[in-house]
Amino acid sequence: MILGIDLGTTHSAVGVVDSGFPILLADEEGKRVIPSAVWYGGEGEIEVGRKALRRRITDPMRVVTSVKRWMGSGRIDDPVLAALRKTPEEVSADILRELKRIAEWRLETEVGQAVVTVPAYFNDSQRAATKRAAELAGLEVVRILNEPTAAALAYGLDKLKERSRVAVYDLGGGTFDLSVLEMQDGVFQVLATHGDTRLGGDDVDRMLFDFLLEGLGELPVEMQMRFLDESEKAKRALSEDLAYTVRIPFYDGSSSFEKTITRSELDQMTREWIKKTLKCCQQAMLDSGLKNPDLDAVVLVGGSTRMPAVRETVAAFFEKNVDVTQHPDEAIALGATIQAGVLSGAMSKMVLLDVTPLSLGIETYGGLMNVLIPRNTTIPCKAGEMFTNAADGQQSMRVRVLQGEREMARDNWEIGKFDVEMENAPKGQARVGVQFKIDADGILEVLARDTSTGKDVIVRIENSAVNVDDAAVEQMVGESVEFAFEDMSERIFTEAKLKADELLPAVEMILEQGFVKDEERLEIEVAVSKVNSAITSGNANALKAAVKTLDEATEAAATRLVERAMEEALEREMAE
Ligand code: ADP
Ligand code: MG
Repeated sequence: MILGIDLGTTHSAVGVVDSGFPILLADEEGKRVIPSAVWYGGEGEIEVGRKALRRRITDPMRVVTSVKRWMGSGRIDDPVLAALRKTPEEVSADILRELKRIAEWRLETEVGQAVVTVPAYFNDSQRAATKRAAELAGLEVVRILNEPTAAALAYGLDKLKERSRVAVYDLGGGTFDLSVLEMQDGVFQVLATHGDTRLGGDDVDRMLFDFLLEGLGELPVEMQMRFLDESEKAKRALSEDLAYTVRIPFYDGSSSFEKTITRSELDQMTREWIKKTLKCCQQAMLDSGLKNPDLDAVVLVGGSTRMPAVRETVAAFFEKNVDVTQHPDEAIALGATIQAGVLSGAMSKMVLLDVTPLSLGIETYGGLMNVLIPRNTTIPCKAGEMFTNAADGQQSMRVRVLQGEREMARDNWEIGKFDVEMENAPKGQARVGVQFKIDADGILEVLARDTSTGKDVIVRIENSAVNVDDAAVEQMVGESVEFAFEDMSERIFTEAKLKADELLPAVEMILEQGFVKDEERLEIEVAVSKVNSAITSGNANALKAAVKTLDEATEAAATRLVERAMEEALEREMAE
């Protein structure tokens, strides 16, 4: 068994692949992420994580935080580390030992190997120091993995397509970086990375701290720590709510402290801070030689990307919807875990939980497959489309939910079907919206609604949307490649035939009612016979071309027909 570990500046996490799925392991308090903080007591006691952070209020000179900053660097400028005579490696080892302990306690077995992540900008000595820290903790590092690569793995971006480019925006507690990756055949390469090792969520805590303390006198250190904790709490709350009130009872011995801060005040406060990250983005993009449209995805990781203002600003910068379907503070550990699972063989490389293994769609006219959610889409996801009635006064529409890669509905697998009632309307006038939604558990919910009556049907399809046998997926994909030409020509034929079925009766009417000039007649008649013979012969491209010619040949006459109809309507109106 191999662990996946995110050894972060402010938070760390550990995971493992269990029965094929990557999971993060929670500590005794049920938390999957622990603070990267260590308290060293006077008698050699050690506490790690939340317990250590709590000690910071009463014993700040014995609590080490943000030790990652000093990993592998010759010059260490941290008074606490100096006072405690600890090396960054020793402190990191204590954090790793705690993660190992949590894992062994959860798994009820000893574990000796791990994949550990580091920032893409870490140099050789920083990577080597990370390895040594793990060894001190009794863990052999089987792979040092770049954090942005781990994030991309967590998002299933290695399955996006054969070759893709992604940007990973990582805004954590004390550091920021943007990395541009290129993935080819499942292997990632860092094209560029740029960041600021002194920029992160801690800055926002300090801004809020200053805001709260405005007008108050000098406070004892313990009370300052209290206010700093409250500042972070307020920040987190404002990612969800529009306002938050900080309350500290008897903060100066007699009176209570109370102050409200709104989301928009926070947005105002952090505007310049967020802008600084964009400068790094700009630089990294420049270095990578890519432009925004070249990117297949932009993913956000790091706890600070939970801030709505950050998400909006980054999305606007990259002119893209940013992917935030994974927990931003867990994505890197999850990616490390996936890598560990692949290396240990606990996880098949083919199908990961977080993407749809095959396309999902419904059958439309002519027996065609209409894809709503393409294969390899990261879940959870949602997609919808409008459909209309094929015949006048159609009472209901049959929704056949299909899975597979083939162009014709009959070659795909039906995983559900139902009928939705339709309002009485002329052909092509009714509007039925169909929406597919897959939640994080892989459950597909299909909703169909007649937009004019509002009547809808919702059907839940458990399991089959995501849980497909590897071999079946391979067979389906293989067949779609094998029959690609046949499938495509059948789709072209079917689409052209549908168009012909509409066009031929209309042309007949135009001819009968004398809208066609003599010099046009021959051309139209030839075109009609070409359409008919292409239908008989079943030649897709010939039919497509013939339909197009017929459409063009009758254009002038069709226009005359419409004009006449309008004139008649006008005359009738005048007469009334
Ligand atoms: P790192 O990679 O630096 O260890 P994380 O990715 O765990 O850090 O991010 C930690 C930062 O995210 C902290 O500054 C924390 O306050 C911030 N954070 C966590 N949750 C939220 C939230 N809901 N809203 C805003 N900031 C948050
Ligand atoms: Mg991080």
